[in-house]
Amino acid sequence: MADKIIEAKDVSKWYGTFRVLTDINLTVGKGERIVICGPSGSGKSTLIRCFNRLEAHQEGEIIVNGIRLHNRMRNVAEVRKHVGMVFQQFNLFPHMTVLMNCMVGPMWIKGVPEAAARKTALRFLERVRIPEQANKYPVRLSGGQQQRVAIARSLCMEPAVMLFDEPTSSLDPEMVAEVLETMTSLARDGMTMVCVTHEMGFARAVADRVLFMDSGRIVEEGKPQDFFTNPRHERTKLFLSQIL
Ligand code: ADP
Ligand code: MG
Repeated sequence: MADKIIEAKDVSKWYGTFRVLTDINLTVGKGERIVICGPSGSGKSTLIRCFNRLEAHQEGEIIVNGIRLHNRMRNVAEVRKHVGMVFQQFNLFPHMTVLMNCMVGPMWIKGVPEAAARKTALRFLERVRIPEQANKYPVRLSGGQQQRVAIARSLCMEPAVMLFDEPTSSLDPEMVAEVLETMTSLARDGMTMVCVTHEMGFARAVADRVLFMDSGRIVEEGKPQDFFTNPRHERTKLFLSQIL
C-alpha cells in the first residue's frame, strides 16, 4: 500500500481492568473506505476514538498520517488537524451560526484568516448542499441538516481521513438517506474514510473493506461482496441475520 493514512499494529486498550480492545491490526490506505460494524459494546467507537487520540491505547502502535500516537506526545492537536470526526450526536456549537461552526476550526486551530475561512466554509456548505442555512443556528435545522453541517465543518479542516461514528443512528428515518448520500459522494471523490455504521446498503455500495468487531476484536474482514454473501464466522452470520 503506497500511502498509509492509519496504521494500527497489535493495539490493545483497557478501561481499568476491562480489556476493551484486543490485538487490533488495521491499515487504512489513502483513498480507502472502511466500514466497521458489530454489536453494541464491541469496541467500535473506542477504536476509532483511538485514531484521533480522544482515547489512549496501552499496547501496540498507532500511526496516523505519519505521526505515532503515544503517551508523551505533545502534538495531539497536530494529529486532530488531519483527522475529521463526525459523531452520532452532531456536536455542533449551539451558540454559533452554521457558517461560524465551519469557520472556527480553520481560524482558531490553523490560523486561517477570516475571509479565507468564510470562503472555504461556504464552499463546503455548498458541497453538502445547504449553503442557504449558513446564517441559521443549529437548533433551527433538522437532524439531517445538522449532520451535514457537521460533515462540512470537518471538511473545512481538509483532513487526510474522516472518521464517522454511527452518523445516522440518531436521525429520524427520513433523514438517513441525505446523510448517506453526502457520505457516498465524499467516498466517490476519493476521501479516505473509516465509518462505523450498520447501514449495510452504504457498506455494499461504498466500502472497500468491511470489518466485523466483537468483544474488542476484529473477528472478520473482507470485501463487501464476500463479507455479505459468504461470512465465515458464526458470530458474523448471527449479527448479519439480526440487522439485514
Ligand atoms: P461500541 O461503539 O461498539 O458500542 P464502545 O467502544 O462504545 O463500543 O464500548 C466498548 C465497551 O467499553 C463497552 O462495554 C462500554 O461499556 C465500555 N466503555 C466505553 N467507554 C468507556 C469508558 N469511558 N470507561 C469504561 N468503559 C467504557
Ligand atoms: Mg459506539
